Amino acid sequence: VRPSPQALETLDWNKCDGLLPAVVQDIDTLQVLMLGYVSAESLAATLAIGHMTFFSRSKQRLWTKGEQSGNVLAVQSISVDCDADTLLVLARPAGPTCHTGAESCFDGAPKDFLGGLDQLVAVREALRPSGSYTTSLFEGGIRRIAQKVGEEGVETALAGVAQDDEALLGEASDLLYHLLVLLRARGLSLKDARDVLEKRHR
Ligand code: AMP
Ligand code: ZN
Ligand code: ZN
Ligand code: ZN
Repeated sequence: VRPSPQALETLDWNKCDGLLPAVVQDIDTLQVLMLGYVSAESLAATLAIGHMTFFSRSKQRLWTKGEQSGNVLAVQSISVDCDADTLLVLARPAGPTCHTGAESCFDGAPKDFLGGLDQLVAVREALRPSGSYTTSLFEGGIRRIAQKVGEEGVETALAGVAQDDEALLGEASDLLYHLLVLLRARGLSLKDARDVLEKRHR
């Protein structure tokens, strides 16, 4: 967990009966997953265990999201809004966040498709379902995956100098997908590459 400790020190607990709203967002897809309320105690528990823990207003007790379902929210960072009365939590969900089985409590909440595809590739890597092309790539090993990235890179380059937009988009898509698989085969994610780009940008 990477909270900014100074920011958490200055939280304005008096506004709302000792509770503050916390918006939880998926760190890979940036999809808004849910909103819950934290107390000082639930926030301390969150930081201690690394799983998002709310103060449940209906249960009137600390509630670690996923305590029954297993669909915990592994907290990656916490930030505080402009007047220190609302939290924004970036987390990796272990499964669907809504008790209805939906990914998000907000039906149809927008998310980054490429980030979602990266998550799907991670799930394929972990579970290796048979009949999946992604599984066959992982089973083929890192050299085979790297070779595919090389091929798709060359195809993309060739399509880039031809005058066919549809062909270029097709090859670029092949390249992006195989690149996600290559990163994942090395234990890396799209977010890791995005972070490098972001650091260079600064
Ligand atoms: P869980 O924390 O996922 O083990 O779920 C335990 C109980 O908490 C569920 O039966 C629901 O009553 C409630 N619950 C789970 N997820 C949510 C959610 N995203 N928003 C509100 N209540 C929830
Ligand atoms: Zn505010
Ligand atoms: Zn819900
Ligand atoms: Zn291709």
